[in-house]
Amino acid sequence: MTRTRVYLDYNATAPLRPEAARAMTALFDAAAGAGTNPSSVHADGRAARKRLEDARAGVAALVGAKPADLVFVSGATEANNWVVARAPVDGLAVSAIEHDSVLAPARARAAADGLPLVEIAPDADGVVTPAAVAAALDELAGRGAHRPLVSVMLANNEVGTIQPVAEIAAQARARGALVHTDAVQAAGKCPVDMAALGVDALSLSAHKIGGPPGVGALALRAGLALDPLIAGGGQERRYRSGTENLPGIVGFAAAAEAAAAGLDAMAGLGALRDRLEAAVVETAPEAVVFGQGAARLANTSAFAVPGLKAETLMMHMDLAGVSVGSGSACSSGKVSPSHVLAAMGADADLCAGAVRISLGWATTDADVDRAAAAWRALYRRLAGSSAPRAGHTAGEVA
Ligand code: PMP
Repeated sequence: MTRTRVYLDYNATAPLRPEAARAMTALFDAAAGAGTNPSSVHADGRAARKRLEDARAGVAALVGAKPADLVFVSGATEANNWVVARAPVDGLAVSAIEHDSVLAPARARAAADGLPLVEIAPDADGVVTPAAVAAALDELAGRGAHRPLVSVMLANNEVGTIQPVAEIAAQARARGALVHTDAVQAAGKCPVDMAALGVDALSLSAHKIGGPPGVGALALRAGLALDPLIAGGGQERRYRSGTENLPGIVGFAAAAEAAAAGLDAMAGLGALRDRLEAAVVETAPEAVVFGQGAARLANTSAFAVPGLKAETLMMHMDLAGVSVGSGSACSSGKVSPSHVLAAMGADADLCAGAVRISLGWATTDADVDRAAAAWRALYRRLAGSSAPRAGHTAGEVA
């Protein structure tokens, strides 16, 4: 099958890996003759249970977690909500560049329970420094919180910056904090080891690594008492009720195994990303690449051209057959200003122009060449019709 479009929006969702599709198809074929409820005690249920536990081991291995410490949930939004809403803590320190699925429940809990909340600003490159976390812990202590939750993501979804989570966790835990990391964007793109990170909880999402959407996991340090977010039938050792999404979980595990085997190839995407970035900066020397001074995921580039709106760039790339992202754009069709770039101190004009390209397991040299060519043509056209300059808006571009 020839692909007619170039897909460069892996941080939003990765195309389903063939390994995941095959594993799910095999399960559906098997399930046509026998159900897939792992709680059933008959032989068919026991077979489903075995598939579930094998899958748990497969996903846990991707992040160096013990299978027994991994709880399957409906996605990283649930995993993040769960830990933020239920962690046994007396204060909250979350980075200002977290995904909304951390920020929103943190603000809601702070408001509902009266917990002190500190949103930790990153530096101009999009890195949350251990010093900034220490200052947040000091502030919380001053407000009477001595066992807070610290939540700092491992890699940012918008700019790809990698956070010093091991260092943050070591100092925060030494001061009595619980530490959570949203590892959604790092998993499968760079090595992740929960024990080496030293965190208490770690969130994962299947569809970001080439599994299906609607399934994720929270890995919990053994013995961590976390009340359930969802109560009912007591599945997942009472941590998360609801009949397990076995097809999704089996696809998640197959994707995790393929992602673990493909880590070197993912690191190699850095050369393609750099080529694309070079093409952007060569045609538009005024372009600003975000987070360039920090360690970044090899697959991600976020940039803006002063005076050009993200919608304009995305629309022209889209018409040229290239899918790129803008902002965090998590809800359908929504392109809202990025809280991540704002927290990094980018000015409003640049924030409004931020485009994100993110490569992944199926990205080829030819994809990058086509995207670079589309970019050059679009920039020439925009510059030819009216040279991009500060204050130029989408409406003014013919
Ligand atoms: N955290 C991060 C960093 C993400 O990028 C996303 C997806 N945009 C999520 C959490 C939410 O994951 P899910 O789609 O599985 O709910």
